[in-house]
Amino acid sequence: RQRLSTEESPVTVSATLAANEAIAARRAAGLEVLALGFGEAGIPVHPLLRQRLAQAAGEIAYGPVAGIDAAREAAAGYWTRRGLPTEAGHVLLGPGSKPILFALLHAVGGDVVLPAPAWVSYAAQSQLLGREPIRVPVPVGEGGVPDAEAMDAAVRAARAAGRDPRVVVVTLPDNPTGRLASERSVKALCETARELDLLIVADEIYRDLVFEEGPFPSPAAWAPERTVTTTSLSKNYALGGWRVGAARFPDSPMGTRLLESVRGTASELWSSTPMPMQHAAAYAWGDPPELVERVAAARRLHGSVARAVAGTFASVGCTVPAPQGGFYVWPDFAPLRGALAERWGVATSADLARVLLDEFGVVVLPGSAFGDDPASLTLRVAVTGIYGVSDSERLAALVAPE
Ligand code: PLP
Repeated sequence: RQRLSTEESPVTVSATLAANEAIAARRAAGLEVLALGFGEAGIPVHPLLRQRLAQAAGEIAYGPVAGIDAAREAAAGYWTRRGLPTEAGHVLLGPGSKPILFALLHAVGGDVVLPAPAWVSYAAQSQLLGREPIRVPVPVGEGGVPDAEAMDAAVRAARAAGRDPRVVVVTLPDNPTGRLASERSVKALCETARELDLLIVADEIYRDLVFEEGPFPSPAAWAPERTVTTTSLSKNYALGGWRVGAARFPDSPMGTRLLESVRGTASELWSSTPMPMQHAAAYAWGDPPELVERVAAARRLHGSVARAVAGTFASVGCTVPAPQGGFYVWPDFAPLRGALAERWGVATSADLARVLLDEFGVVVLPGSAFGDDPASLTLRVAVTGIYGVSDSERLAALVAPE
């Protein structure tokens, strides 16, 4: 009798990572690929940051579970300078924000409310914890936060049906839509979360990559007592492989209890965040002018490419919300549904993504991977893969008559 359990996991390899495998297979077969699936900027490490890392290479011991003081203080300063006064004691570091988010959802317990669409991993993490997420559409033209009224109705209905929603996760600016929620929507979300007694998890991992200057609508500004905010080195500084993230907890007894609970989970999951990386993070979160300039240059690059890519999709007839931050574009091929069905047999976003890969060697992710209606024809396009490549021809060919 087999002793190892072969029961199926509730999740499969993340859609984004699976797309990477498809790319490798195609390249191995000698075929050309334009990889617009995975968002990774590939911006070289700043020499000063490299130097900090090298200086800390001798730090080989495990560190404190919540992070070294220098990094917690630097993260507190990072948030304070961005309008969210923070003390180091309310900050916890982890090896990327993804495991912190998981530990948070685990600590909170209960059901998870998510915008539809939302970043793939929130739903997968909720499923790993044994709970199907409760999906709520985002306000028209926005991204990253659920519509407050719809959330109110969904949470009340879920509670009436015996479920236990306790937390809503929002993304500012958003992955997959590239949109930054308006202050109005964020305020409405905060008020509704307060009425419903929900915790808000504000994933602000693309915070420094907002293209237009202006006030940033952090939920923690309007609902400080119930918002946990997360950040990381991965997107702002293009250092995903360095694996450092941080969370900022409310300055309240509840916030402290939650941090302690996450710290307990962390002690059994990752023990400590890699020490050399924490020293690098302490430097980066101090906002030294050299790095601030590097992030600004990256932001300009992402902005100009995202807008150009959105323009290309619009020019072939898609509906595309104007990108506002991060490095994703979210075209909707619904206006071309007839032509796509006739020529390629496309009925779902997954069909559309498959045709783009098989016929054009373009890797994108279907909207359905983000919880969008499978029959919609939305795609998430990571523009970081397009730098240096002009690809309007392939896109134009997709929708051209035969
Ligand atoms: N949150 C969002 C919205 C993301 O897009 C990502 C990465 O793709 C993450 C969190 C996880 O980032 P990390 O674990 O590298 O901090």
